[in-house]
Amino acid sequence: MKVGIIGAGQLGRMLALAGYPLGVEPLFLDRTSNTPGAQVGKSLIGDIADPAKIAELAALVDVLTFDWENVPSKARERVPAAKIRPCVRALEVSQDRMHEKTLFRLLDVPTAEFAAVDSRVDLDRALGQIGLPAVLKTRVLGYDGKGQAVLRTPADVDAAWEKLQGKPLILEDFVAFDRELSLIGVRGAKGAMAYYPLAENVHSGGILRYTRAPFRNKALERQAERHMRNVLRHFEYIGVLAIEFFAVRGRLIANEMAPRVHNSGHWTIEGATTSQFENHLRAICGLELGGTAPRGHSAMINFIGRLPSVACALEEPDLHFHDYGKSARPGRKLGHCTLMAETAARRDARLKSLLRKFRRQGAEL
Ligand code: AMP
Repeated sequence: MKVGIIGAGQLGRMLALAGYPLGVEPLFLDRTSNTPGAQVGKSLIGDIADPAKIAELAALVDVLTFDWENVPSKARERVPAAKIRPCVRALEVSQDRMHEKTLFRLLDVPTAEFAAVDSRVDLDRALGQIGLPAVLKTRVLGYDGKGQAVLRTPADVDAAWEKLQGKPLILEDFVAFDRELSLIGVRGAKGAMAYYPLAENVHSGGILRYTRAPFRNKALERQAERHMRNVLRHFEYIGVLAIEFFAVRGRLIANEMAPRVHNSGHWTIEGATTSQFENHLRAICGLELGGTAPRGHSAMINFIGRLPSVACALEEPDLHFHDYGKSARPGRKLGHCTLMAETAARRDARLKSLLRKFRRQGAEL
C-alpha cells in the first residue's frame, strides 16, 4: 500500500517508520528535501498548499493523509474526497477554533464559554459576556501557544489587541483547570473504534513539555470516551483523532481536537500494544485496528530547542530516544524520549530526576 503524507515533519517521519513493517510505502510532499520525513522516505518537493502538487501526490498513492492539518481546502479540491483520510470536513473544522468549539457544543462536548472577535467593539462585548480572566486566540493557524494572549486584568486588554488584531479571533473563558488530559481515539474504515488510556499533559509557554500515561480515573475516562465517540461518529472518521481536555473538579472541558496523530500520543510507540502511528495507518489502509492497552507506565519528554546527548540519556534504563533529525532552534521540537516503569510511582520519581538532568544540560523544559 502506498500512503501519501502531506507534510514531512516528525509526525510524518514516525508514521513512515511505523509503516515499513506493514509493507506501507510512504511518499511525502513538503517544501524542501531537508525534512524529518525525507530522511526516512521518498519525498515530492513542492508547496503543500498547491492543488497541482497535491493532485500529483494523490495520483501516485492509494490513500492520502496529513502530518499537518492546516492545508487549505482549495489545495485539496482536485483529489477525490474518498482518497483523503481522515475526511476533509474534520480537517476543515479543526482549522478554525470557532467551528471546532461550535461543533463540540452541537455534539454535547462541553467547552469553555467563547465568542468570535473581529473588531475592538466585539472584544469589549465578548469581555462583557465572558469576563476576566480570559484568553484571546487567533481562530486559525495557532499552535504551541502561538497567536494567543491571556487577559488577567483590564490593562492586558489593549496589549493583547495590539498584538493580535487584524486576524479573526476568539475570546475564551480562562479555565482554572486541575490538570490537562488528552484522549487519542481511532476509528477503522468499517467503523470499529478504539481508545488509548487518558494521558496527562504538562504545558509551559503553550508548548507540551511532558506526558504521562496511563492517567487512571474511571469517571473521566468514561466522559472522554463518550466525547471522542460522538466526534468520531459525527465525521464517520477514519484514522487517529486526538482531543485535548481541561479537567476541572471531575468534569472534562474540551479545548481542541487534532485530526491526526498527536504529540501526547508519542508514548504509545513503546508504551502501548500498538502505537498511534501504526493504528492510524491500519485505519486509513482499511486494516484491522491493533490493541490500545498500555504496557506499564510511560512518561514522554519533549526535547525543545536543544537535544540532550543520546549517550547520556541512554544511561537511564528503559528509556527510548527519538531524534527527529532537525536543526536546533529555540522553541523547536527536536525529539523526545519515553521512559517506562512498572509502577506509576516509580515512573514519576524517575521522570522528576530525568527532567532535572536534562535541564542541567540546557534543555528547555
Ligand atoms: P491551545 O493552543 O489552545 O492548545 O493552548 C495551548 C495551552 O494554553 C493549553 O494547553 C493550555 O495550557 C493553555 N490554554 C489554552 N486555552 C486556555 C483556556 N481557555 N484556559 C486556560 N488555559 C488555556
